[in-house]
Amino acid sequence: MKKESLKEPIENYNIYSLHQSTNKSINRKRIIVTVAILVAFLVMLTIIAIYTTDTLKRLKQAKAYEAQVISYQQELEKQEQQKRLEEEKKKQERMPKLTETGKEKLKHIYGSDKKRAFLTFDDGPSSNTSPILSILQERNIKATFFMLGSRVEAMPDTVKKVFDQGHFIANHGYSHVYSQIYACPENVLDEYNRTNTAIQKAIGEPDFNSHLFRFPGGLVGGKYAEIKQQAKQLLEQNDILNVDWNSLTGDAERQNPTPDQVVEGLKRTSQGKNSIVILMHDAQAKQITVETLPQVIDYLIGEGYEFQTFFDVLT
Ligand SMILES: [Zn+2]
Repeated sequence: MKKESLKEPIENYNIYSLHQSTNKSINRKRIIVTVAILVAFLVMLTIIAIYTTDTLKRLKQAKAYEAQVISYQQELEKQEQQKRLEEEKKKQERMPKLTETGKEKLKHIYGSDKKRAFLTFDDGPSSNTSPILSILQERNIKATFFMLGSRVEAMPDTVKKVFDQGHFIANHGYSHVYSQIYACPENVLDEYNRTNTAIQKAIGEPDFNSHLFRFPGGLVGGKYAEIKQQAKQLLEQNDILNVDWNSLTGDAERQNPTPDQVVEGLKRTSQGKNSIVILMHDAQAKQITVETLPQVIDYLIGEGYEFQTFFDVLT
């Protein structure tokens, strides 16, 4: 009995102890599991936080980049629009306009206080036109080219080159055949219009109109004097003025002039004149014009002339 009573508490104790130990183990497991869950939860939270921060950062960067791209595109568009406007303005500035002042100035073309010279080339374009352009470009001089519509259609690229280099393209009719152009006054206007259309096409400017004509053979005199006077009126009614010349090199006056004769011709016909409109030719046969142009220019510079075009007069 004593043994049993002794044994029981021990057993009881053991059971209690075992129970307690199991409880402890369970508690520990719970704690571990809870801690593990907590740790996992924290890790997850951290990952989510990092991921969210990173995503937000990336989104912000993407938005900033997008804004940058849009602003760059807008800047580009703005620049392009500005460029287009400037080009259009430049184009418009190069379109001849017949102003009232221009009409008045043309009436007094042979009078001027200052010495001024208008280099004019008729009957082109031809293969002589480009060498003339090179000489003018070297010396930074602008001239006026009275072109024939038939030649414009034959050499549109040369016409464009003349225009692009800042020279003034004026109108000399289409055919240069007197019996055709002077058959009646209307023919003169028709040839002007036909030539103007050819120039528009060559330079790519549908609004171009020089408003300036030079009568083949000159306005005054000859077999067709009467028709020419009537044509002059008809042209003026259509806002087209005309100009002849008061000086010439004689490059077309004789068959084969020598360079000396050409320069002498200029000296003789320009003497004592302050304002000179010089007749020259850039037709196919007139290589002499190319050969003598540097001397002609040197002479005029030496005499104190400043170069102008009829664009300066009319517009
Ligand atoms: Zn001519």
